[in-house]
Amino acid sequence: MTSTPDTPRLLGPAEIRGLAAELGVRPTKTLGQNFVHDANTVRRIVASSGVGADDTVLEVGPGLGSLTLALLADAGRVMAVEIDPVLAGRLPQTVAEFAPGHADRFDVVTADAMTVLPADLPRTPSALVANLPYNVAVPVLLHLMAQFPTIATALVMVQAEVADRLAATPGGRIYGVPSVKARFYGDVSRAGAIGRRVFWPEPTIESGLVRIERTDPFGTDPWLRSATFAAIDAAFAQRRKTMRSALASWAGSAAEAERLLRAADIDPGIRGERLDAADFVRLARVREDDR
Ligand code: SAM
Repeated sequence: MTSTPDTPRLLGPAEIRGLAAELGVRPTKTLGQNFVHDANTVRRIVASSGVGADDTVLEVGPGLGSLTLALLADAGRVMAVEIDPVLAGRLPQTVAEFAPGHADRFDVVTADAMTVLPADLPRTPSALVANLPYNVAVPVLLHLMAQFPTIATALVMVQAEVADRLAATPGGRIYGVPSVKARFYGDVSRAGAIGRRVFWPEPTIESGLVRIERTDPFGTDPWLRSATFAAIDAAFAQRRKTMRSALASWAGSAAEAERLLRAADIDPGIRGERLDAADFVRLARVREDDR
């Protein structure tokens, strides 16, 4: 297929092989480098994200550009943040070759998505769409949701198990820190499964898509976020314990934990896995009012 100014050409196995050979890329596990070589998969991710001409999309880890090119077909702008300078350096040329009519709507920044801040980027993102590096997927997602309050929707590909954890609801075995923290920002849902064979190299595990619709149900005050997250971390650090004992050192003593829990209308005898984000927000507020 030839590219026209309106239709970016997408990367298949031959293009991925060619780019990797040209750059001497040897994908590393440390950087979670598994590149998608299937056009239908990237089209599906972009369709699930719902991004359109009004969106400035932040893409983390563009790699060789598979998802980037598909995003450029639909999004108003794409801003890619890539930690690997060799990959980041090749992207403008890849966009010019495969999506010539779209190059002026693309920016790439060489940076670590774990620490990147709005001031490091040329524009303000309205959406996050990414095939995240697996070993840092949750911290990157939470960092970006916290530091970029303009991100109204996030659609990310992560390990299937991590996708399940992020989208889990209270009460289950897999409900934990990522599930509660993601819900601090809004509605979280699974958005489909992705098989292993669409990647080079093939990972050993399946992947899944997760969507966050930001509603900021508890506001955007950074103090409330960090106070709530501290209570969540304490509750799940010892997830088999009751809240009264799990929060003992967070509160100063088990008796003090019990008092704060009762004041927040939470049964001190239950485990953290039964509580939702609103419960932890109440607890953080009660503790602050008490100081
Ligand atoms: N988006 C590409 C695709 O779908 O084919 C590549 C996805 S690959 C799973 C993850 C990408 O994230 C790699 O390009 C890797 O170099 C990059 N990466 C890893 N850690 C990163 C970090 N902390 N900040 C930014 N990019 C990172």
